[in-house]
Amino acid sequence: MAESDAEGTVESKDFLRTKIENDIRTGKYGGRVATRFPPEPNGYLHIGHAKSICLNFGVAEEYAGTCNLRYDDTNPDTATQEFVDSMQADIRWLGYDWEDRLYFASDYFEQFYEWAEKLVREDKAYVDSSSEEEIRELRGTVTEPGRPSPYRERTPEENLDLLRRMKAGEFPNGAHVLRAKIDMAHPNMVMRDPLLLRIRHSTHYRRGDEWCLYPMYDYAHCLEDAIEDITHSFCTLEFRNNREIYDWVLDAVGIERPRTEQTEFARLELDYTVLSKRRLIRLVNEGHVAGWDDPRMPTIAGIRRRGVTPEAVRSLCEKVGVADVKSRTDYALFEYAIRDDLNWRSPRRLAVLDPLKVVITDYPEDAEEWIDAPSFPRDVDKEGSRRMPFSRELWIERADFMEEPPRKFHRLAPGREVRLRHAYVIRCDEVVKDPETGEVIELRCSHDPATMGANPADGRRIKGTIHWVSARHALPAEVRLYDRLFAVADPDEGLEEGEDFTKNLNPESLVVVNPARVEPSLADDPPGSRYQFERSGYFVSDALDSAPGALVFNRTVTLRDSWAKIAARS
Ligand code: ATP
Ligand code: MG
Repeated sequence: MAESDAEGTVESKDFLRTKIENDIRTGKYGGRVATRFPPEPNGYLHIGHAKSICLNFGVAEEYAGTCNLRYDDTNPDTATQEFVDSMQADIRWLGYDWEDRLYFASDYFEQFYEWAEKLVREDKAYVDSSSEEEIRELRGTVTEPGRPSPYRERTPEENLDLLRRMKAGEFPNGAHVLRAKIDMAHPNMVMRDPLLLRIRHSTHYRRGDEWCLYPMYDYAHCLEDAIEDITHSFCTLEFRNNREIYDWVLDAVGIERPRTEQTEFARLELDYTVLSKRRLIRLVNEGHVAGWDDPRMPTIAGIRRRGVTPEAVRSLCEKVGVADVKSRTDYALFEYAIRDDLNWRSPRRLAVLDPLKVVITDYPEDAEEWIDAPSFPRDVDKEGSRRMPFSRELWIERADFMEEPPRKFHRLAPGREVRLRHAYVIRCDEVVKDPETGEVIELRCSHDPATMGANPADGRRIKGTIHWVSARHALPAEVRLYDRLFAVADPDEGLEEGEDFTKNLNPESLVVVNPARVEPSLADDPPGSRYQFERSGYFVSDALDSAPGALVFNRTVTLRDSWAKIAARS
């Protein structure tokens, strides 16, 4: 399991890589490693798929193998070109490349059909004319064996005739299905004469109306793998019981060993979100989010728009690892991966989200100073700075002032001093309130001119530093404060009869601040630029909605880092 690298550190391999290495060592496939990522184009890819992408493409990279991109587009009612296109963009964005290995299961329909005829001729499959309900009825239960369909003993000739006419489009949907002839009393329910082909008169986004005989997953998937000469076929644990039918079909059509083998691993389950296209499509269609790329969505498109980098997604997948037992992943681990990556790449900027006016009464009305402020803190080993204007009127964060502060409040209060980031120490001399509402509307302050980039000359200590922007120079901006999509870690938790996961949506997953005030250096940056707004979080200018003169920022993640604290404690 463990191996020493050149540095002598021990790196433990997951069970899939251990299996691959074993297969390479024994020469099972002549040393060949061929994987595939097989999405069904019935939605957008999500972060669960990212785990599978990192695994399949990652393994191919590590073992000088290949990874195919294959669309499992065997359902004409749900597959669309939009989904196909978005998936390619997302995989590329994650940093992976299928080169010329792009395949579509819908190109294999003829081959699936030919094998179906072979199965029928060899009496390994039959046409069943029972209804869906009758088939379900006869299937039995976990404790009771199933019973044979009245059509089970049709002759190969009769079956062949029906199968050909099914293909020719002579029958309506549901009139007949092709089933494997295995064992209606098989202890594995999946093996009780599973359906192989069904009639579906629908327009397929690639095949149009010409084809009407669609394969079921258990028939199609193993054959797709065999056609492409895949060696290692990875799928999630729910398919463990399907492994038997995977091998049965390959044996039945005569694919010889060594051949593709299925191995299951635990799917990614991330707290505070749902990872299922069927559910995500509901969030989109029912208007719970603004679209597939809503920054709250766990889709790759949403995550990207939120400001997360592909490196952070890959780092999460690496941290989660690959195992063969079910588990949920703490959302804080994802946030940690995001912060860890954004910390070194995001220049620091000042932005005031909930502005309160400050007037520096002893600073000349028309004066201004341009401060050269470093873009990165010392522990991030990066160069760069920008110019920040200082003037008589500033905005500070409303929460950085308290009229009656508790003892540990080190920010601004009547008579107290605070340091303005990169600028002077100021003292609050007077609080101006709205005579009607009593709300604080302005602070009148004075500054210590000797404290620009220096400590107070008399040695007095200034405990707090706050951020600010010059009111005259600041740019208004819309800031979208995104939070977790669901209010509880497991969206299926605590539901009553008749309720579903949408009940657990977080009503505060988006708070829009408008206008916030940001420093003027941001004016001309291209959409998609990332920043740390000091003390507020990591932000990205929105790739679609932000423009010079109408800036829009998405909060990628807050600065609070509970995972790092947890890690430090343990
Ligand atoms: P969904 O319910 O989201 O549609 P799926 O498994 O039906 O999931 P597919 O498009 O069939 O979606 O999946 C493509 C590949 O991605 C499959 O190999 C599948 O095992 C893998 N995959 C899907 N969801 C996850 C997940 N949460 N974690 C890891 N791998 C996943
Ligand atoms: Mg699916």
